[in-house]
Amino acid sequence: MDSHIAQVLDLQDKDIQRLTAEHELKAIPLDILRLEEEIKKERAVEAAEKKALQDLEVKRKDLDGSLKKTEEQIVKYKTQQLEVKKNEEYQALEKEIEHLNAEVDQFEEQEIELLLKIDEETERLKASEAEHAKHIAQHEKAIAHLKEREASYRENIETLRTAFEEAEALVDVRYKKAYERVKTTVKKPPFVVILSEHKCQGCFLRVSNDVESAVRQPEGPVQCSNCSRLVYID
Ligand SMILES: [Zn+2]
Repeated sequence: MDSHIAQVLDLQDKDIQRLTAEHELKAIPLDILRLEEEIKKERAVEAAEKKALQDLEVKRKDLDGSLKKTEEQIVKYKTQQLEVKKNEEYQALEKEIEHLNAEVDQFEEQEIELLLKIDEETERLKASEAEHAKHIAQHEKAIAHLKEREASYRENIETLRTAFEEAEALVDVRYKKAYERVKTTVKKPPFVVILSEHKCQGCFLRVSNDVESAVRQPEGPVQCSNCSRLVYID
């Protein structure tokens, strides 16, 4: 292989390592932020579910209070009944008691329904809490992993940059300029590709005859006639 090409391929290698590290250092904090948002969401949903159950408990206590009050009132009326002289007064109290008894029945029915619902919701909350805990643990693990990767990239970035600069210093200036030109039009690596069966392995299109013959007798950098990547043959 042409030594110019070998050098520019090495440059590309170091460049990709450097670019990857730079890209990751930019992307990882955002990924961490996104995961932290997910954890917040899980916790908010969990809190809302707990609150809903507490509300049901409060409702049950209120209902219980109403039930007790009504029962006390019935006892009061019954005591009054023992003291009244007139039959119509007795009957009026009897009517009130009947009415209150109906209310007690209703309260009791509502309370049973509510108790069943509380049982159901308690079970559901237990399962849901386990799910939330599982999701949060997964997110936390992913965050820890990302932080490790970030630290490792941060530690290596200067070494990678220096390696790139050292490789760059070895490359023939014409190849270096061509490489930089490619990078202005081709936004993602590879920037230097092999020609295989007349096709550029960057854009996978057939190159022109001029490129085909130039690449066999290179007198300088040769670029793909379609995508402008630097091309070479083995
Ligand atoms: Zn191409």
